[in-house]
Amino acid sequence: MLPNVDAPQALDRLLRFRPDINALHEAERGEARCAHLRQSILVGLIFYNLYNLTSVYLMPDILALSVAARLLLVTPMALLIFYLTPRVSGEYREAMVAAGAFGAFSLPILLFWQSQAPLSAYTFAEPPLVSVYANMLLILRFRYAFIYTLAAAAIMLLAVLGKTELSYELKFSLLIQGLTATFFALYANWNVERNRSRAFLIELAARARAETAERVGQRFLDQSLTDPLTGLPNRRALEQRLEASFRDDGALALLMVDVDHFKPYNDVLGHQAGDACLRDIAHALGRVCRDRGAYVGRFGGEEFTVILNEADETAGLELAEALIASVRARHLPHPSRSDSLSFVTVSVGVCVTPSARLAAKELMISIADEALYAAKKAGRNTSRIRTFPL
Ligand code: GH3
Ligand code: MG
Ligand code: MG
Repeated sequence: MLPNVDAPQALDRLLRFRPDINALHEAERGEARCAHLRQSILVGLIFYNLYNLTSVYLMPDILALSVAARLLLVTPMALLIFYLTPRVSGEYREAMVAAGAFGAFSLPILLFWQSQAPLSAYTFAEPPLVSVYANMLLILRFRYAFIYTLAAAAIMLLAVLGKTELSYELKFSLLIQGLTATFFALYANWNVERNRSRAFLIELAARARAETAERVGQRFLDQSLTDPLTGLPNRRALEQRLEASFRDDGALALLMVDVDHFKPYNDVLGHQAGDACLRDIAHALGRVCRDRGAYVGRFGGEEFTVILNEADETAGLELAEALIASVRARHLPHPSRSDSLSFVTVSVGVCVTPSARLAAKELMISIADEALYAAKKAGRNTSRIRTFPL
């Protein structure tokens, strides 16, 4: 069953799903998220290393350090994250990617801070691009994007303010540019993340509604095919089962089971006792049929119908006798029979056909009824069988 998304706390201010929804989201979207992240990491790496070219002119004094840090530190770290992304839990994955993005952001800041070259301040074009990359291409989960942004702003402030050789005007401008870009990217991330999260919740709510509708529909269908008194399949279900059986080519036995002297039972003990008796009988018949792979339903009144596929005369008669014995064995007292017995019994009429496809449903029922009538005439509490004339 899907989680209830209408309940409060489905999504909090940091755009975190409730734990049960989060688990579902991860199960359904985790794989696609990994694929997205891995592709973005590779693309990001290519562009990131292109900035080695700018170092040649902007910070020639620490060129070797710059190239080594990008190629030998950030690149292997990014490849490690690429490798680990599908191999760790969703929560670790998102934290790891955010930490990686922060590492990629910090390096140009540190290089800028280290370099004494006159043009080194121009390298400040790079960190905001990393923030755009982290927030809009990787699309860090908002809670991590938030932490990333605060940390990025802090080291940017420290680096710029700590670089004493820069003029006040340049420091001020660099900070305005860097901070606005970083927070602007965070705002964009919040928008994207909010839309993504809400879209998932809306989809989930629609799916939950469809699931409920299907469950309700199934319950109505079950009810429409069930006899409320006995819980057995009702006549409609029996008809459907019979139709299906007649489409098969195998042998088929149809049994009509009728409670003996049931009218006097009702007359003396009352209708409610009659109902309880019918439930008891249904229970006994149901058990026998379950054990023997037969299908039983209430045909109507005090009559039950049993369908046994792949059954010849012997199997049909054996089943009939087992049904009769099961009711007899319950020793339900019957105080008003006109014969010598004093407990409830049933009679069974059986019709068998070697080929269900060649038989006709209505005719088979009436032949089974004929056999039942013969069983009644033979003294009740017994069975008779007829073969369908092909
Ligand atoms: P026979 O041995 O020939 O079958 O005799 P019978 O009395 O069982 O047959 P009859 O057809 O005369 O009576 C059937 C009775 O079954 C009539 C009715 O009172 C009872 N009956 C039918 N449906 C229900 C039911 O849902 N609940 C109860 N309590 N009685 C029912
Ligand atoms: Mg009857
Ligand atoms: Mg009867």
